[in-house]
Amino acid sequence: MLPLVALVGRPNVGKSTLFNVLTRSRDALVHDEPGVTRDRNYGVCRLDPERPFVLVDTGGIAGSEEGLAGATARQSRAAAEEADLILFVVDGREGASAIDDEILSWLRKVDTPTFLVVNKVDGLDAQAALAEFARYGIKEVLGVSSAHKQGLDALMARTMAVLPRDGDTEILDNDPERVRIAFVGRPNVGKSTLVNRILGEERMIASDVPGTTRDSIAVDLERDGRKYRLIDTAGLRRKGRVEDAVEKFSIVKTLGAIEQCQVAVIMLDAVEGVTDQDASVLGAVLDAGRALVVGVNKWDGLTDYQREQNEQLLSRKLAFVDWAEAVRISALHGSGMRELFKAIHRAHSSATRQFTTAETTKALEIAYETNPPPVVRGHVAKLRYAHPGGDNPPTFIVHGSRLRTLSDSYRRYLENFFRKRFKLVGTPVRFLFKEGE
Ligand code: GDP
Ligand code: GDP
Repeated sequence: MLPLVALVGRPNVGKSTLFNVLTRSRDALVHDEPGVTRDRNYGVCRLDPERPFVLVDTGGIAGSEEGLAGATARQSRAAAEEADLILFVVDGREGASAIDDEILSWLRKVDTPTFLVVNKVDGLDAQAALAEFARYGIKEVLGVSSAHKQGLDALMARTMAVLPRDGDTEILDNDPERVRIAFVGRPNVGKSTLVNRILGEERMIASDVPGTTRDSIAVDLERDGRKYRLIDTAGLRRKGRVEDAVEKFSIVKTLGAIEQCQVAVIMLDAVEGVTDQDASVLGAVLDAGRALVVGVNKWDGLTDYQREQNEQLLSRKLAFVDWAEAVRISALHGSGMRELFKAIHRAHSSATRQFTTAETTKALEIAYETNPPPVVRGHVAKLRYAHPGGDNPPTFIVHGSRLRTLSDSYRRYLENFFRKRFKLVGTPVRFLFKEGE
């Protein structure tokens, strides 16, 4: 499981601004895709790419014990208690308030390590702003400006010093032949049923991965001569284990599993279609740049008419990931399993395919000649060459000039052109544009 950091603080101190800065993906384009939803409370911080952690924005800790506010407060407290680190965010402009004092008295009862993050110090005498909170007696005090991205390096450095190192490195198998997959999706879509079916069929060769018996469980198996590692999902939990009562911990687990897998299989319930929660899991897969297969489960429960309706609805709702294969399955009856694993294999091959600069430059030239970028205010972008910039997801670095004039639609054209030419299915593709050289 990834480490968990909780943002705690009263409304308006800048928690969500800080949350956004810490969790934004490097790839701004991904964010603009219509149809992607992001969970505004949970995200993964990858500012240190070697050590990602889950960040939770816990609304308010303070709140009456009654009604919705009370429920939110209780949930926030639970999240903060589970966290490896609490960032107690206060407003450096307004100074300490009665609600801050109230939160502080609660924090004193919790033994989670806590930093005091004094936000909005832009344009302030930072020393004076921090001094105001000295009486809180919190040892680690950091002045930041989330809006102006000041003080974040120090915040990250201190955070990294406190967070546990990933204890589950065993999961990241170096065997290039072994495909790491995670079955993700909201509760009740059929993940456990599917995983148990797969493991049931393969009982003879499935084995627990050593060192992963604590919270996060991984299982190795072979199927049709190929090797797989199933990464922690709800479905992998042994029978009789106490299920997490609270949904949020399954979100943290899901984000961790997505981070550690190579291919995420998102399971949908065919009867219910694509819900907001599904779209938010899809957003997490895209942010992580993972290969993706959509498993449309409970296909057995549909009439022919429903199936037809369902096909149309799905292709509309999943238009933003139209590069991913959707496989109709029934975990209950075991149908569609072969197709599912074929799609997983295709996605993995695409995600890890190696390219040469010669072939990517050739592709760029043909794409350019077939459809040159339009003239923008008398200027036209020049695309010189492209070289591979890494795999999983395949990344292409395009060099040229006036690249800022390239429209989103032209960028999408390039992406689709490369996808087609290299037969890439089931994986996101990234383009980075470099001016000059
Ligand atoms: P939350 O309610 O704690 O999540 O607070 P928000 O992130 O919504 O921020 C509340 C207000 O403070 C917004 O108007 C932000 O633009 C502003 N704000 C957030 N961070 C900063 C900062 O670092 N400096 C300044 N000057 N304003 C900020
Ligand atoms: P999870 O929470 O995602 O692990 O979901 P479960 O595997 O526990 O399944 C939730 C419910 O859906 C159970 O009652 C299953 O029997 C049922 N279910 C799972 N797969 C299928 C399927 O392919 N078809 C039908 N009709 N029901 C299914």
